Amino acid sequence: MTRATTGGLVPDCNGASGVDAARSQPVLEVDQVTKVYPGEPPVTALQGVSFAVARGELVGIVGPSGSGKTTLLQLMGTLDRPSAGCVRITGLDVARLSDRELGALRAARIGFVFQQFFLAEHQSALDNVADGLLYAGVPQVVRRAHALDALRLVGLDERTHARPNQLSGGQRQRVAIARALVGSPAIVFADEPTGNLDQATGRTILGLFEDLHDLGVTIVVITHDRDIATRMARRIEMLDGRIVFDSADKSGGSALPARGDEDHDDATRP
Ligand code: ADP
Ligand code: MG
Repeated sequence: MTRATTGGLVPDCNGASGVDAARSQPVLEVDQVTKVYPGEPPVTALQGVSFAVARGELVGIVGPSGSGKTTLLQLMGTLDRPSAGCVRITGLDVARLSDRELGALRAARIGFVFQQFFLAEHQSALDNVADGLLYAGVPQVVRRAHALDALRLVGLDERTHARPNQLSGGQRQRVAIARALVGSPAIVFADEPTGNLDQATGRTILGLFEDLHDLGVTIVVITHDRDIATRMARRIEMLDGRIVFDSADKSGGSALPARGDEDHDDATRP
């Protein structure tokens, strides 16, 4: 990771940043991050994890259960703070922000997509998406106009008045993705976004992420499914709280064991 050395107006935990640094700044920087959950004994969920995500990247983070993916998502999403190391979103050091500032950063610059969709069942698709702008201080009529644009982006503009229970799983996830996008965030984090979908529907959701990537949206998809991760332009593999492979590092190969013969179609994928 390259780091600007210019003196900054807002120094972060490494003293980097400032006006010059802001221009070429990665959207996300995870720098030597460690997370220890207290207990008897304490659990080290992440150990010295470092990577950066540039604007417009589509990144898959893959690893088996317990490898630290959700912990990493919570740190990247500013929902939790690292025990050591540094997380920066658009150059802002998460550790230096108050809870209130973090809330504002999250609302304005981060979109979340979860396996369980988390939609309000009594509200229309349109209002579920419009609610993604509740904290932006935008009047309802404007929120709904932006929500319609976002639903159009995910191909659901004909079902704007449907409630979640009138939609299929794939359509629900599209609503959730529209809600994540409605505020034009700097980065979208998706945690196992196809985990509650059948394979075919999951593939269409991945296709949607690829379409959004083509439009320049910055997306990080977290998954335990290696086939999903191999479809991403960039793949990061985790094991026991560490990064063991990053396709952006040109040296080395995948550290995860190949699964066997059923995996042979991987080789044909672009
Ligand atoms: P993944 O999402 O890849 O399954 P997690 O980030 O959920 O991995 O978990 C990584 C490790 O941290 C696991 O050993 C898990 O048991 C532990 N862990 C996760 N959350 C907590 C917590 N709140 N308290 C204690 N240990 C936790
Ligand atoms: Mg998890």
